[in-house]
Amino acid sequence: MNPKCIVSESVSLQIYAFLPRTRALGPYLRFALWVQGCLRNCPGCMTPDAQALDRGTVTDIEMLAEQVLSVREAEGITVSGGEPFLQARNLARLLDRIRKTRDMGVIVYTGFTLAELQEKIRAGKEDVRNLLDQTDLLIDGPYIRELDDGQSLRGASNQKVHELTERYKGAAEKYYGRPGRNAELHLLENEVFLAGIPGAESLSQWQRGKFISSIPTEEFPP
Ligand code: SF4
Repeated sequence: MNPKCIVSESVSLQIYAFLPRTRALGPYLRFALWVQGCLRNCPGCMTPDAQALDRGTVTDIEMLAEQVLSVREAEGITVSGGEPFLQARNLARLLDRIRKTRDMGVIVYTGFTLAELQEKIRAGKEDVRNLLDQTDLLIDGPYIRELDDGQSLRGASNQKVHELTERYKGAAEKYYGRPGRNAELHLLENEVFLAGIPGAESLSQWQRGKFISSIPTEEFPP
């Protein structure tokens, strides 16, 4: 499929990538979806390739819903990017379609603060309301490299974890902002994909292509 502009009337999402199974992006086993397109250009962004508005893959949301629902052991879905709220309308439709078929939890990472999103709702942005209504746990705010404290499941200390529903009650304290980072390497057909939120040094090595060669060989038995 050819990449298209985000401004589209089709019921589709412009996505950067997805992973059917990960344990590095929230509690329990999760389906992970990265949407394409973000206007912030945060220095140190973990997914710079997901920023361009005119890249990624345009994907029909019905196909995507079936893909998510086929992973029966997944407790929920984590949406990151890119900026999920740039595609709020169709992302909300996707999540609504999924949750009408199966009860799945939804975690969303956004560069907006919750206060900014609430301001958009007050200004009449119903798409923003619809996406927030589908969200159980929201991690908000842009990545600010100077505030990267190496704590779990969020990039920097300005990013707050909001329990918008009871589904993950207590998760903010139990899983987020704890010492240490967690990331996974997934071997895909044509590439090695990094999922999760690694430490800044690990990410820098990964982006310079030195991650694999930096693993001490003595950790592997002969
Ligand atoms: S908001 Fe997120 S995706 Fe967008 S530039 Fe910042 S870190 Fe990257």
